[in-house]
Amino acid sequence: MAYTVKFYKGDYLQRQQAANADRAVAYVEHHFNSGASPSAGYAVVVVGSNASSTSRNWGRWYARAVADQFGTQVGGDGGILVGGWAGRGDGNVKHTRMPAVLLEPLFASNPQQADAIRSEAGQAALARILAESIRRFFPDGGLVAFSVGHKYKTSSPNDRGAALAGGGTEADHAELVLQKAAQLLAAEPAVPTQRMLRVMRGDTLLFETPVDEDATLSWSSERNLLYIADSGDAPAPRALPAAGKAAAPKAAAHTAAAAGKAAAAARKTAARGRRR
Ligand SMILES: [Zn+2]
Repeated sequence: MAYTVKFYKGDYLQRQQAANADRAVAYVEHHFNSGASPSAGYAVVVVGSNASSTSRNWGRWYARAVADQFGTQVGGDGGILVGGWAGRGDGNVKHTRMPAVLLEPLFASNPQQADAIRSEAGQAALARILAESIRRFFPDGGLVAFSVGHKYKTSSPNDRGAALAGGGTEADHAELVLQKAAQLLAAEPAVPTQRMLRVMRGDTLLFETPVDEDATLSWSSERNLLYIADSGDAPAPRALPAAGKAAAPKAAAHTAAAAGKAAAAARKTAARGRRR
């Protein structure tokens, strides 16, 4: 299975009705937040007043991932606002038959966050988190509906949302992030995967390895060490050739074969990393 992404335009109700007619599996409307205080800067997701538990969990997961990536906090109730700000935002997502989220990952009015919104790296990070969230919550693939907040409304075609501190608009930058996320979703088939541990530098994947679903991970900032508690029957590392070599000397023939397989997988992973 694969993902296809379609951008919906027109007034918000029409977008949602069109996505319903197309039987989309997930619906995303992208905004950036804005506040009176330039220091306001938290991640929050609006879900409809009738939101399913999938919408709520998806929204919370996304807000937490954004807050972790950008070193901010989550807003609302653990990252979500059910029914929006006293109703504002509710109508943007409550008419879909599929899970739907309205994203407010960063503040356009916060100068530091506006810089991140304008930067290639910031947009790439937001796109990656969104694509990952869709892969996680909708692992079977299907049609994903994207809606750029404010832009392309029939009733007010010139709306671009909030101004970014330092220049640019909310809607134009939301569109850039959604375009990047659409590319990421189209690049790989939808495959339900096991739990993976990954190391990234910027937008580049340096290393990934499967970890046991039950394994406990602990980070030591003193040692810069992420420790995976040995669950006895750990899956073979995929992306660190040195680990495959280390296993070989004390191993019987079948382990050497496994190490070879791991090295091949590592090469594949590295190639995939470069493509990204
Ligand atoms: Zn907005």
